[in-house]
Amino acid sequence: MNVQNAKFIKSAAAPKDFISNGLPQVAFAGKSNVGKSSVINRLVNRRNFARVGATPGKTAHVNYFLIDERAYFVDLPGYGYAKVSLTEKQRWAKLMETYFQDSGRIDCGVLIVDARHDPTADDKLMAGWFKGTGRPLLIVANKVDKLNATGLKGCGEKIREGLELGAETPVILFSAEKGTGREALLKEIENIANC
Ligand code: GDP
Repeated sequence: MNVQNAKFIKSAAAPKDFISNGLPQVAFAGKSNVGKSSVINRLVNRRNFARVGATPGKTAHVNYFLIDERAYFVDLPGYGYAKVSLTEKQRWAKLMETYFQDSGRIDCGVLIVDARHDPTADDKLMAGWFKGTGRPLLIVANKVDKLNATGLKGCGEKIREGLELGAETPVILFSAEKGTGREALLKEIENIANC
């Protein structure tokens, strides 16, 4: 798959706008500011592809990117931003609930967490939703460039324990800033989505 052949398709604000056309879908989730847009940008090797630094807590959308006409990268709305209004949180929950309800929708889940910290309660909830799909899940531990050697050593295991992951779920140490882990993540995605 030529991952650099990527184009934005649409931003779905409601379930009726979700795409379902048989192409594999790789769904990316993560808390606000974890670097989800940066990870997607790093994968497709473009600086301003998915928006970086967008105001956290803006209206939740599901963004679709078509990769090499063969698969979608699906950018799920970020979570865990404290200042979001209750109405907006409820909208987010409804959108996600519907997205995850259709078990055929996700072919590969990619949950992005912060390599420096223990997974949050929201991260755990999201990991549970992904596990519930029965589809393969990849964990991206982002921002490893901010860790020293000691921090790096145990961080994969800490995340594995925190998210109660089985041995089948890889934890990929990643830096969207430096490019660490890009090849490993792409290889896993291509294998799973068969693209
Ligand atoms: P999103 O809200 O999850 O889409 O996060 P963004 O991609 O907008 O990134 C949030 C902030 O984290 C930005 O200031 C990025 O430059 C920074 N960031 C993202 N990935 C990394 C990384 O791997 N290392 C470092 N040091 N900073 C990162």
